[in-house]
Amino acid sequence: QADTETLFERRESEVRSYCRAFGAVFASARGAEIFDVDGTRRIDFLAGCASLNYGHNDPDMKAALIEHIASDGIAHGLDMHTRAKGAFLDVFEQYILGPRGLDYKVMFPGPTGANAVEAALKIARKATGRSNVIAFTNGFHGVTLGALAATGNGYHRGGAHIALSGVTRLPYDDYLEGLDSAALLERMLEDASSGLDAPAAILLETVQGEGGLNAARPEWLRKVAELARNHGALLIIDDVQAGCGRTGSFFSFEEAGIIPDMVTMAKSISGFGLPMSLVLINREHDVLKPAEHNGTFRGNTHAFVTARVAIEKFCSDNGLETQIRKAGNIVASRLAASGDVIGRVRLKGRGMMRGLDVGSGARAARICETAWRNGLIIETSGPEDEVVKVLAPLTTPIPVLEEGLAILDAAIRAETE
Ligand code: PMP
Repeated sequence: QADTETLFERRESEVRSYCRAFGAVFASARGAEIFDVDGTRRIDFLAGCASLNYGHNDPDMKAALIEHIASDGIAHGLDMHTRAKGAFLDVFEQYILGPRGLDYKVMFPGPTGANAVEAALKIARKATGRSNVIAFTNGFHGVTLGALAATGNGYHRGGAHIALSGVTRLPYDDYLEGLDSAALLERMLEDASSGLDAPAAILLETVQGEGGLNAARPEWLRKVAELARNHGALLIIDDVQAGCGRTGSFFSFEEAGIIPDMVTMAKSISGFGLPMSLVLINREHDVLKPAEHNGTFRGNTHAFVTARVAIEKFCSDNGLETQIRKAGNIVASRLAASGDVIGRVRLKGRGMMRGLDVGSGARAARICETAWRNGLIIETSGPEDEVVKVLAPLTTPIPVLEEGLAILDAAIRAETE
């Protein structure tokens, strides 16, 4: 422990977050369990902020990656077409796009979710010849400048006085009791006196991961999709956090029955925690010419190898959707029961993307701290960090899931003592 503290003092400054909240040196992990250098086991309900939907070190992805490296498979090839990339595209088309009747072009814009959002915004602006983008309160899209401009929570500007423009932020679904925010958006789009510039795109998350697990209703999503269509704006669904099965289906928008013009994905798309992002683009909006949007790391070949296995796993006969439904119901019912204990608590989110609004950031922080001391890694979200966020790997075995939820329940109950 002494060594750990010394290392923190020397190397981890105050502005860093997770290393402060989770004061251990982590050494290994498997599935939903993570171990520190002292061998202490903890359950991981943070899961790389939804970038580890298949848990840590999935054995099939690990084996495929080891095999790829052992046979001198290409590690990096800029955006050249490689066998690994082709194999990923094959399964993505065969198992994900094809069965859903989707005919998107697939772009690999760089390693991060923010890269995907930037590319989508640029494409929308070029395709429409317009510059304004509509985004929503409490949305989070990344910390590069275009994505940051669309991000609702000003804290992420980090106090840097950066001019962010070209985005109009409007109320998300259920923002204010009694406010029909889709009707407001419609009125503003139609009323010239609103001063709202015709939008190139409407950008949104179906469940706001960083914004407090606000889940938009399917009918709200359908209305916004219709408004985008009627007003010549491209609908971009940011599925960086809610995608890859998190909400129960591979894409988070499937339940609403909408077809976005573009979709951004990252986090769990590689399945293994490797950096990879993509933008799905309607063919008619695939407007960028070669090198109009480039960068060195567009397509990490190791990530393609694990991403292929991840898709196969998601869609295999005993696929993940049933497991997600089962695990999601357990999370929802346990969280609701824990919430009842302290009252005025709200269950939020969808599927395996859940949160409990415990009323204040201070209380949520205490709950996470107690949980940490008892062997559970969990974080907060929301404008005041008032939502305790449960992002267990989708593959978490039910007994481990129950164990983690029991630790969380005890931490919540401790608030009443
Ligand atoms: N969009 C959403 C919805 C996200 O949750 C995140 C990351 N939390 C991002 C974009 C940005 O992704 P990255 O951190 O990989 O840039």
